[in-house]
Amino acid sequence: GRSGKRGQKHPLRPESPLPASGLPTVVIAGRPNVGKSTLFNRLTGRRNALVADMPGVTRDRKEGEALMRGRTVRMIDTAGLEEAAPETLFGRMGSSSALAVEQADVVLFCVDARAGITPADKHFAVWLRRQNRKVLLVANKAEGKSGAAAAMEAFSLGLGTPIGVSAEHGEGIADLMTEIVAALPALPPAPEPEEGEPVIEEAPRRRGKKEEKPVTFASLVSEEDDEEGVPEEFADAVFIEDEAAEPGLLRIAFVGRPNAGKSTLMNRVLGEERMITGPEPGLTRDSIAVLAKDEQGEVQLVDTAGLRRKARIDEHLEKMSTSATIEALKRAEIVVLVVDATLGLHEQDLQIARLIEREGRGCVLALNKWDAVEDRVATRQAIYDRLETSLAQMRGIEVVSFSAKTGAGVNRLLPAVRRTAEVWNSRVPTGELNRWFDMMLARHTLPLVQGRRLKLRYITQVKSRPPTFVVFGTRAEQLPEDYRRYLVNGLRETFKLNGVPIRLQLRGTT
Ligand code: GDP
Ligand code: GDP
Repeated sequence: GRSGKRGQKHPLRPESPLPASGLPTVVIAGRPNVGKSTLFNRLTGRRNALVADMPGVTRDRKEGEALMRGRTVRMIDTAGLEEAAPETLFGRMGSSSALAVEQADVVLFCVDARAGITPADKHFAVWLRRQNRKVLLVANKAEGKSGAAAAMEAFSLGLGTPIGVSAEHGEGIADLMTEIVAALPALPPAPEPEEGEPVIEEAPRRRGKKEEKPVTFASLVSEEDDEEGVPEEFADAVFIEDEAAEPGLLRIAFVGRPNAGKSTLMNRVLGEERMITGPEPGLTRDSIAVLAKDEQGEVQLVDTAGLRRKARIDEHLEKMSTSATIEALKRAEIVVLVVDATLGLHEQDLQIARLIEREGRGCVLALNKWDAVEDRVATRQAIYDRLETSLAQMRGIEVVSFSAKTGAGVNRLLPAVRRTAEVWNSRVPTGELNRWFDMMLARHTLPLVQGRRLKLRYITQVKSRPPTFVVFGTRAEQLPEDYRRYLVNGLRETFKLNGVPIRLQLRGTT
């Protein structure tokens, strides 16, 4: 894809302008103004080197030596090499910057925890992952408690556990040094001692007293994480985020029970009498995507007619085909659940809604055949009641009533789909999220579990599509279901996450 080409933009250069010192090389990289120079000065002990307040100010590459945990490393600061185009950083990232990365034993990829993860950071991360270098993800400007929470957002970059530091205030630097040294290539074996020469054994290194250790991300993430430090469930999150960067048409599927009116609706939205003609009844054909259009632009309709037709033959006309519905869900981002309103909400409709939630899709509820409904007020009320009691996870979902047959009201469908897609793609800033979180924790005391009180510390949204949050805390994984539901409902109400599934993961720390 596009990102594959990016990796080739920085081919290895045969000649190197950097002196070979024999020391392990640590390169500080990242977009302008995240604090690379400040970190460089902090690690090398230089205090008064030039630090510019303006992004993109060109400076000479800085090189220095730093002593950490008894090892000397060569530090390279790429600040000023990024070229003065922060908004298009990736495309123009200085080739000298790329060259420095190629020479690195360890790359310190610096992001700004206060500013949050930007598209430039993401592009940089995608490129870095292809460089086959050891990368430590440094979330700078993470001073104070809220900074630590903000730094966790960087998880989504897929470059391991962020190390929260404040280069300016010196916080987290000792831990960072420990991580750097652990990532360095092993020292060459010491020469055999000469006969008679005393052998000096190195004292075992202590990693610092546990109690006094400041809270860092390394200490917040549990042992089960894989060696990259990315919890397994985030692996695909990162993938999805990369995909999301590619602008694409919104894909919509219509699902529902047989005879709900899906084909009629499809034709109506397409604005033409479009006969869906399979070759022979019962023969499958691949689902295709067709374009539909309204004043706001184009969308893609996932046409699952073939899938449905197969399901009817295989499983009798009346029986919903779960596999066909799941297939449709997988091909779409937002799903329109089409219901025959004259029949009310059927148990099978609820089953489909649960599938939509399980697959993580956004959902709009379409009440079709509204022309044939006699008591509209009562019908609507009955459906809302049923939603409330049986589909709490879909609370706040957009409900659109119309007649696919006459066309009345159908024009309200796509706008509702677009609003839901916006929610599905949305991101809640970490600071705002944690202010809300503190309020929620204050409102309802956390329960005791086996006589000990749980402690929840931070919450962060690790991805969207659908919105996915992680709560960190002591024994967080033991959080009772009702408290968890309290948090999910609160997220939905406060941040208006209507019509989309909300994922909340709990990560215990010790
Ligand atoms: P570079 O362009 O990535 O090299 O960034 P600089 O080192 O020049 O820093 C950019 C700005 O961020 C400067 O105004 C620094 O004072 C500020 N800065 C650097 N580190 C920190 C930090 O830990 N906390 C805060 N709040 N600001 C910082
Ligand atoms: P599908 O099985 O979900 O694709 O449903 P169809 O689109 O084939 O429609 C099933 C039946 O319902 C057909 O007889 C349609 O004419 C009828 N139908 C579809 N939409 C409406 C509507 O808005 N009002 C009424 N009264 N009938 C409809």
